[in-house]
Amino acid sequence: MNPLGVYLQVPFCQTKCTYCNFHTGVVAEARFAPYVDAVCAEIAGRREFYSGAGVELPAALDSAIVDSVYIGGGTPSLLDPAHLARFMDTIRGSFACDLLEVTLEADPETITAEKAAAWFAAGIRRISFGVQSFCDEELRAAGRMHRRADVYRAVPLLREAGIANISFDLIAGLPGQTAQSWRNSLEQVATLRPEHVSIYLLEVDEGSRLGLEILQGGARYGAGRVPSEDEMAEFYETACAFLEQAGFRHYEISNWARPGFESRHNLKYWRREPYLGFGAGAHSFSGTQRWANAHDAAVYVAAIGGGKLPVEQLERVTRESALEEELFLGMRKLDGIDVAQIEREYGVAVEPRFERLMSAGLVEREGSWVRLAPGKLSVANEVFVELMK
Ligand code: SF4
Repeated sequence: MNPLGVYLQVPFCQTKCTYCNFHTGVVAEARFAPYVDAVCAEIAGRREFYSGAGVELPAALDSAIVDSVYIGGGTPSLLDPAHLARFMDTIRGSFACDLLEVTLEADPETITAEKAAAWFAAGIRRISFGVQSFCDEELRAAGRMHRRADVYRAVPLLREAGIANISFDLIAGLPGQTAQSWRNSLEQVATLRPEHVSIYLLEVDEGSRLGLEILQGGARYGAGRVPSEDEMAEFYETACAFLEQAGFRHYEISNWARPGFESRHNLKYWRREPYLGFGAGAHSFSGTQRWANAHDAAVYVAAIGGGKLPVEQLERVTRESALEEELFLGMRKLDGIDVAQIEREYGVAVEPRFERLMSAGLVEREGSWVRLAPGKLSVANEVFVELMK
């Protein structure tokens, strides 16, 4: 079987979080239905859209079986459940499917018993929660709509609806976060017992209001109360130790899972397996090409309505860049990469690239496998920079 992942992007939110550097926006609800129509049209008419945009669909992909769906954003849980059911019906009607994992990203305050039941009926079996923190003060400072109590309210609703796979996202580096509040958030994760946890470090760049304030100065978004890089690295190390103790396996730099709950869909990104993304700003990888749709939802809807797919970054993946991807995506997995297998596949020696990293103790080796050294994960970027030289 050729497995294929399908990603649907819903770029709408209730408010804009201060740290958010995604292409998402706050729009009137009246814009949801036309957007859903456009995404469904793109899925159902993908062959024509692709051929008009210069995207080649390899034959193996055309007959592939969709085994994972990820509806992300944005805040897709804002959509009417009937819209999400339409997404799922369109996928089932347009692809051969053997759906083993269907994820919806949800914000805790958007969840009701009715919505949870409707999601389950639509075939959604995994909920990825943007928890970010269990400290109300930090949530408020970050511009989040939910509070700690919303998470405690939402989890039982999802369990009662039959959702047996819940993932929490946490952010290390929010304004006002301390070693103690971080530890407290981790403890509450353990209390609520999700199957999966993702931890991201605050990204500082010009794409978010908080990032801009950290770079350019100001006091509106709490830039002065953001933990230092060293503190963030410590938070990360604390999480590694805590989650392991709590029964989670660390399987990717930012991801932990109880046995058997690793994200099938997200593993495709690090294993270079194909996925097709639909919607504004969605990225796709066919095995031979990568491309992204236009980010602006209005531009996207207008283009699809006019019979055109607004593709922005279409590139053929050369052998050289495929090899680089094998290294920097593969090394994100804590199992690492099989160097001998990559050398056979690409006909080049990659072993020498690891020599300095090995002697610096940043990576370790077991048979033909090389992986990040435990305890050095917070400096993984150094490894990636060296590998790309
Ligand atoms: S909910 Fe997520 S996507 Fe939306 S603004 Fe906040 S961080 Fe960004």
